[in-house]
Amino acid sequence: MAVRLSRSREEVSRCADLDSKKGVGYRSVAYMGDWAYALDSSRRKPVVRQDLGTAQLFTDLAVRCIGPGRIGVVWFKKEPLVSAKDAKVRMPEGLWIKCDHCKEIIYKPEMERNVSVCPRCQFHFRIGARARVELLVDPDSFRELHAGVRSQDPLHFKDQKSYPDRIKAAKKATGMEDALLSGAATIGGHRVLICALEFGFMGGSMGSAVGEKVTRAIEDAIRERNPFIAISCSGGARMQESVLSLMQMAKTSAALARLSRARLPYISILTDPTTGGVTASYAMLGDITIAEPNALIGFAGPRVIQDTIRQELPDGFQRAEFLLNHGFVDMIVERKHLRQTLIRLLDFFAGVSGAPLS
Ligand SMILES: [Zn+2]
Repeated sequence: MAVRLSRSREEVSRCADLDSKKGVGYRSVAYMGDWAYALDSSRRKPVVRQDLGTAQLFTDLAVRCIGPGRIGVVWFKKEPLVSAKDAKVRMPEGLWIKCDHCKEIIYKPEMERNVSVCPRCQFHFRIGARARVELLVDPDSFRELHAGVRSQDPLHFKDQKSYPDRIKAAKKATGMEDALLSGAATIGGHRVLICALEFGFMGGSMGSAVGEKVTRAIEDAIRERNPFIAISCSGGARMQESVLSLMQMAKTSAALARLSRARLPYISILTDPTTGGVTASYAMLGDITIAEPNALIGFAGPRVIQDTIRQELPDGFQRAEFLLNHGFVDMIVERKHLRQTLIRLLDFFAGVSGAPLS
């Protein structure tokens, strides 16, 4: 018989082995339905009981795979059926990104050219601290300060991982020493002290190193009589440092009070997300508070609040637009206009006449 039918690939394989010992070579082995077919090499058009057309197709495929006149075994792997609903779009790693908001597949370089904003729906993707600072300051003007301030582990805190291990992993992932980048730069020619939180470093949480760096940046601003700008992106306090983390709220707020007494401006930029202890301290103390569109800004999460007050929360609760309507935020500025807005604000504070603020 030219055609051998079998239930499983293993069985076909075993038959093929046995037959090859008997001197029978196979041209191809194919799957059809639940059946596997091994096609004899001695015939070009083997007779298949079910469907001659399909058998011819397999023979042609085998000839193409092995080459005419040669003997070999080709496996046609039977893929499991996937419904169109479950099928995932496969795309090359790194070149395409799915928008979290409109679910559109976007070409990543196009999105990056658009300051990491979705070109279809204007959703603002989260960006790292360094990219954030570079977007706002004059080219090549940023000089990092206090880079050596690092977190310690005075409480020897350990959950699933030890705190030093978590720091080590975060350092590796972000290339930063802690969750805050701070330094001096110029924006539209105005010298400023600027700091930005890196969400990729333990959720941008404020431990003692972050608090210390914010405080030092403010103190630098006072000493040099320059404005201070902070960009927030944080999950809140760093629980691994417990009360030492909470102390940073008082420390940074006190430093800002000194900045205010020195009559120097502080511009706070809130990005998605700004929550917990960072919201409850320096992020909300700006002379001017700017938020990016749709940024989540709040102290406790909505579920905690809902469970506490036992009331349905309004639509858009804790989003930048809601905060603007309720007076917590002065303006919502799209990322592409942030730098220009800062320049106009700094011009205004410096008494430079220019375009009026809108
Ligand atoms: Zn989108």
